Amino acid sequence: MKPGLSKPRDIASLKSRLASVRLKGAETSVTARARKLLLVYLEAAEGHGMPFQDLVREMRSGLPAVRIAGMALQQIADRPDGPLASAACAAGCAFCCILSGQDGGTVSEAEARQMHGALAPLAGKPDGRDWHPRACAALDPLTRTCRAYDARPLICRTYISTDVAACAKIAEGIPAAGAGVVGAQGLMLAAVSLSRAALDGVSQVASYSLARITAGASRGEDLASCLRAARQPPRALEDERRRFGG
Ligand code: SF4
Ligand code: SF4
Repeated sequence: MKPGLSKPRDIASLKSRLASVRLKGAETSVTARARKLLLVYLEAAEGHGMPFQDLVREMRSGLPAVRIAGMALQQIADRPDGPLASAACAAGCAFCCILSGQDGGTVSEAEARQMHGALAPLAGKPDGRDWHPRACAALDPLTRTCRAYDARPLICRTYISTDVAACAKIAEGIPAAGAGVVGAQGLMLAAVSLSRAALDGVSQVASYSLARITAGASRGEDLASCLRAARQPPRALEDERRRFGG
């Protein structure tokens, strides 16, 4: 725990810790919004008499962050002139499921658990890597649709494009305009980072590699081993948060 910080022991002290913690770098509008929405969540939890330990468990998993970002994504989707209205995305179009980097995207613990739960019953079956060596293991290699569609994490839900050709180039490491992640992923990462800072000394908030979770679940690894192997070093979340404006 950082020197000078006292350990929160109830929701009231967690709220004041959350209001005052600072993330590395200047506070952006994304971080400010994530802080405000997390404080609303804490208020609601307090109002409902939620036990402190249950609240800590929820925050540790990143569930409030996922819910906050999910609502923000819904607001974007509801805008008739928003980015989703002009998206070229369609079932069976899967260049965005060819993952880049070792981690293939950062997900919260809640999302990692959800993905594992959806893929575990499909362990041993052909997966996305039978189509493309860097494809996500959650992909169906024949239909090129996500085998864990309802459980897919924010990083997948927020990636959209107006140009399939741009996605094909990006998948091969060639920069192209027209495809990218809409704001809700940055909000989720900022909320997970703030939860980590607020729970410092109480509980550890980790982030996970999407590629590693899906690969492990597809080959039948149990949840605990999968989470252990997919856990990212603390810096990964901070780097990713800044990359998405948090
Ligand atoms: S992001 Fe690109 S590759 Fe993915 S579904 Fe949309 S258009 Fe297709
Ligand atoms: S989880 Fe599903 S949508 Fe996301 S990259 Fe993997 S196959 Fe694609």
